[in-house]
Amino acid sequence: MRTILLLVLSCVSLSVHAQQRPMVQTTKVEGTDGVYIFRNGNHQAMFIVTNDGVIATDPVAYGRPDGGKTYIDEIRKVTDKPIKYLIYSHHHFDHIAGGQAFKDAGAKIVAHKRTKERLAVLQDPHTPLPDETFDKRRTIKLGGTALELSYHGLNHSDSSLVMRLPKEKIIFIVDTFPVGAFPGRGFIDFYPLEAEKFGQQVLKVDWERMIPGHPGPNDRLGTKKDVEDQLTLWRDASEAVKVAAREGKCWDGVEKEMKLPKYESMPGYQNGLPFVLRRYCGLWGRGT
Ligand SMILES: [Zn+2]
Repeated sequence: MRTILLLVLSCVSLSVHAQQRPMVQTTKVEGTDGVYIFRNGNHQAMFIVTNDGVIATDPVAYGRPDGGKTYIDEIRKVTDKPIKYLIYSHHHFDHIAGGQAFKDAGAKIVAHKRTKERLAVLQDPHTPLPDETFDKRRTIKLGGTALELSYHGLNHSDSSLVMRLPKEKIIFIVDTFPVGAFPGRGFIDFYPLEAEKFGQQVLKVDWERMIPGHPGPNDRLGTKKDVEDQLTLWRDASEAVKVAAREGKCWDGVEKEMKLPKYESMPGYQNGLPFVLRRYCGLWGRGT
């Protein structure tokens, strides 16, 4: 019965998010020697195969009891080298649940210190605590590859990392900048003012392609233009709500009446709009 239910849920998930693609997929990033994207449903993570082992990120196994093992099985189709590290992009369970399989395989879990603090309180049974944490910067060096981890302050969460492969000029940032899509539920605890500063900092970093935590349209990777577009979208939404808030229209007036017509053809607009408006009402109509 449980198996049948899971199958049904998987099918629903496929039809809604992945348009009948396989549930799980691993793709080599074009033009790289060993950078891969592992996708499970509508979530994805980056892993890097080096001469001395594998650096994996985000287990993406929330609600998928075998998801972490599935991820490892996919890595094993590419290499038999040991999985040395698992990096958490931030503390949200939909991206980092499922790490036990990596720990069992011998990987060391690395995350921002705030991730560990949050996980330690919440004790999610599917999300092992990091073995190592850092605050601002940490570079993972393995088999001739460097993966730079850095923390630039609040944005989508208070633990979101920028992961950068300097040689490939690739960054992996999860959830903060949806590629080609309107922000969604993740806006519920977003830090609007700080995220704008974060966006400006990310634009100054040297990179060309961004791997997002959710697949972009036709699986395309993000560019600096996508970051600029999100910044513009946040500012447009923020300004519109600010004006309305000062007329006393938060929460009800804004949530029931406001539209952002410039973005209405963007994927995710209908579902995401209430979350974006509510968050900016929190800021301009409330002060938080
Ligand atoms: Zn998140």
